[in-house]
Amino acid sequence: MKGRGVALGLLCVVLTGCAGTAESAQVQFFAMDTLMSVTVYGRQGGQAARAVQAEMNRLDALWSRTREDSDISRLNAGAGSGTAVEVDADTGVLLERANTAARESGGAFNPVMAPVMDAWGFTGEEHRVPGGEELEALLPLTLTLPWVASDGEEGGTRAALTQAGQAVDAGAIAKGRAADLAREVLADYTVTGAILDLGGNITVLGEKPDGAPFRVAVKDPGNTEELLCVLTLEEGTCSTSGGYERYFEADGVRYHHILDPADGCPAESGLRSVTAVSTDGTWADAYSTACFVMGAEKALDFWRTGTEAAQTLELVLVGEDGRVYVTEGLAEGFEFRGEEKGYTYEIVYR
Ligand code: ADP
Ligand code: MG
Repeated sequence: MKGRGVALGLLCVVLTGCAGTAESAQVQFFAMDTLMSVTVYGRQGGQAARAVQAEMNRLDALWSRTREDSDISRLNAGAGSGTAVEVDADTGVLLERANTAARESGGAFNPVMAPVMDAWGFTGEEHRVPGGEELEALLPLTLTLPWVASDGEEGGTRAALTQAGQAVDAGAIAKGRAADLAREVLADYTVTGAILDLGGNITVLGEKPDGAPFRVAVKDPGNTEELLCVLTLEEGTCSTSGGYERYFEADGVRYHHILDPADGCPAESGLRSVTAVSTDGTWADAYSTACFVMGAEKALDFWRTGTEAAQTLELVLVGEDGRVYVTEGLAEGFEFRGEEKGYTYEIVYR
């Protein structure tokens, strides 16, 4: 469920433990264009959950494409002007890591797809299918990555887009980076465990009150009411990218929101969804999107041979043919629920 138009407001539930003390707290709110739910266990659970909410609102204000005064909007507005804009240090880190993901994924992840996303109408209300020439004209804008420079704590951080018309869309990495920053916030409180659901990017840390490991469900991309499998997750983030998440139909064809930077069209890689798990939320988010674009074979190659970030990853790849690949790091505690729905799975080794 993407947040727009749904009136939920703020809901704050303080669950009471058996001893009558407030031992866990949950807050739900909209930020970064999605519904977020933060559950924190421990003596300072309530305070910690609200601090995470405040942090998510701060990041939303920095990274939103719809708020004119956000760092990302100011960066985009200055594209091609020859002058860099001052941005928050956290925006600098976000952009640097997006650039790393772009390089490491061989361009499957691309943080400057915004002009192409706009052409498909994914940013506004009105979807459309752009013509081949229109896409050809936009693709050159996606070939140079943002320039970022940090002069240390006192000098601040500056960023720039070199070509006029370029624009950053951090939609595939921002929630993952937000999860990492949320974990940093939680570290300042006395908490025993937490589950953060940032629009489907699930992050867990610490322990559940009963000491059992956290279990995270992966949806059946063919029917999101049902589960495909359940993963056992220690500390880390689980992020899913799928063609079913956001799409529109025109003349009987379905067009989804994850674009192949090679041609600017919805990625047709033979995958229905990719779930990426990593101790690093930023990488889980960025590489779930990148691996969806790559397809099963390249994604598994990347998992086997990629650099540092790839080494932190574990994947569940769901093919259009019903084949599910689960990388070895997820084998323990893996529970498959896909047999009756026509799926088969195999564990893949490094
Ligand atoms: P979610 O919609 O759950 O955030 P993703 O993390 O996969 O799913 O991010 C998809 C979003 O990323 C798109 O809505 C768009 O904003 C952006 N995007 C689309 N294609 C790419 C790509 N190839 N590389 C990076 N970002 C992309
Ligand atoms: Mg992503």
